[in-house]
Formats: sequence, C-alpha cells, structure tokens
Amino acid sequence: MADAVFDIIERLLKGEDLAPQEYETLIRERTPETQRLLRQKADEARRRVYGNKVYTRGLIEISNYCKNDCLYCGIRRSNRACTRYRLTEEEIEECCRTGYGLGFRTFVMQGGEDPYFTDEVLTGIISQIKARYPDCAVTLSLGERSRESYRALREAGADRYLLRHETADAAHYRKLHPPEMSFENRMRCLRDLRELGYQVGCGFMVGSPEQTPATLAQDLKFIECFKPDMCGIGPFIPHRDTPFAQEAGGDAAFTCYLLSIVRLIHPPVLLPATTALGTIREDGRQMGILSGANVVMPNLSPAAQRWKYELYDGKLHSGDEAAESRDKLAAHIAQIGYQLVMDRGDVKHII
Ligand code: SF4
Repeated sequence: MADAVFDIIERLLKGEDLAPQEYETLIRERTPETQRLLRQKADEARRRVYGNKVYTRGLIEISNYCKNDCLYCGIRRSNRACTRYRLTEEEIEECCRTGYGLGFRTFVMQGGEDPYFTDEVLTGIISQIKARYPDCAVTLSLGERSRESYRALREAGADRYLLRHETADAAHYRKLHPPEMSFENRMRCLRDLRELGYQVGCGFMVGSPEQTPATLAQDLKFIECFKPDMCGIGPFIPHRDTPFAQEAGGDAAFTCYLLSIVRLIHPPVLLPATTALGTIREDGRQMGILSGANVVMPNLSPAAQRWKYELYDGKLHSGDEAAESRDKLAAHIAQIGYQLVMDRGDVKHII
C-alpha cells in the first residue's frame, strides 16, 4: 500500500486530478513520513507563488445573531445561553479606522445570518468603507443570501466572500445542519458568488461529527474542481451548548496534513492558519503556516464584544488573535522564517 500512496503523491505534485478514492487513500494512509513529505512540498509550492509572505486580514465580527441552527455552532439560534450583540455602523467604522491605522488593508466582516443586516444596511456600510479606504479590500462572511443580494453587495464594492461549504457530501451535510438548510443551496451560493466576480472562499472543519475519510475525499475533490481563491480549514471544536457538546474535537496534525494537500491541489489558494488551530495548540498557527497556510486573521472587533463570538469552546480572542498585538504576531511568524505583510494580498492566478 505504501507504494500506492507515493504514486498518488507523485501525481498530486505533477498537478494531476485525482479520483475521490485516491484522496481517500491519501487520508487513510497518513504516516509521519507522508505528513513530512507533503508539508515540505506544500511549503515549496506556496513559496513558488507567494514567497515567504503571510498575509494579514483584519476580522470584524459584526453580529452574533443568527437565524440558523447549525448543530455545531455556539451562536446557533437555539442557544439561549449565548449573549447576543450587534455592532452599530459607527462601531464597524471605528474598527476599520483602528485597523487602517494599524496597517490592515483587508477588512473581513463576519457574522451570523442576522436579518438586521439587510442589503440596504450592508451596501451602505460597504460603500462607506470603500469610499474612505479605497486601497483596502472588503471581504464578507455573512452566510447564505440570494443571488440578487450577493450582486448588490458586490456592486457596493465587496471584493471577496467566504462561505465554508462545511462538507461536500450531501448526506454528511444533513447531519450537521437542520432540515431547512440544504447542501444544494450552499453550492448555489458558491456558484453565484463566483459568477458575480467575487474572490471566493470555501472550507470545512476537520473532525466534525460523522466525518469519514470518504467524506473528506469529497471535500478535496470539490476543492480540486472549484479551485477556490481562499479555503478555511480548521479543526472541529465542540461547543458546550450545542447538540455536539460531547463529540470529540479535531486533531491539529491531521488538520495540517489536509492544509498541505489543499495547497498542493491548488497552489495559488489563500489558506488561513485558523483561530481554531491556534485554539487547540499554542503553536497551532505556526504549524499551519509550516504546512502551507499563508494567511492570518487577527481580530479587530471591539475588545468588549470579542468573547461573545464564541463559535466553539475556548475560542481565542487575545494574544496573537488580537489585531493590537500585530507586532507580537509578526515576531512569532518571523521566528519560523516567514514575513507578515499587511498589503491587500489578492489571490495570484499565475503560478
Ligand atoms: S455556522 Fe453560521 S449560519 Fe450556522 S448557526 Fe453558526 S453563525 Fe449561523
């Protein structure tokens, strides 16, 4: 079997498409040796496209109200223990002003699917940010919306949209989401975003309940076909007030293995070393970067609200996670041989 794995790796390195069964073999046959090899090759691939740069995005968590009830999520609508908040337009503007002063040139507005943020409200906020900071990119991560809504937000100036697909296996999707949410609609959203000219990010959790090597292989195949501009991959971490409270969490090394594979499938992808990875291991972010990640997203939200955006237990919101600690984060990244940069860091299409 070992030879079969190395044959698959060789084809991956040549940029060939793989069958889902081959991705599954790559996952099932993970050894310290394959992990080391893929990490090294992923690092080389990333350096060919982006050098040793690690891009920075300023994350603004605009609301933890959500009309949805995803089973894994700490801010799901059924969680009565969640302390809800919503930033005002002035608070969002204040976050951007602070972030711009700190050098950030991408603002990521993330939130639950909060009905308060209508197209009218959001287009007002986006156009104001773009008018004040024309050299900045605006990324949205606000869940599923209609094509018309995505179009209005794009026309107002939004450049990028992050929408994790969570799992590319429809049956697995149904196990993670309530019946009113559908895999088909999630895929429709991603297609619409791409067609409307956004730089699009998808992504998934590693170790989510009932995930298997076969479902993960579908995720990798999806990434190979869709070729996202960004891809958020972090370990699943259970939240105490969700139906998955007693489930086991994801593993850092396995997450890093998948980061390396995704980098090799699509070398230009912008790949964050996620907060979740930094939450389960103190050196998680560094591990992620060494495995092929090249983006970090420190938190620019008002300090008093950060703890409330608790998607999973123990989510970090201070230290390297905090935008104010940018210099410390830069030093940690420099220690492992990479350079934190603050420019817009758009996806590069040419390898
Ligand atoms: S994962 Fe997103 S859409 Fe689902 S409940 Fe949480 S915030 Fe809402």
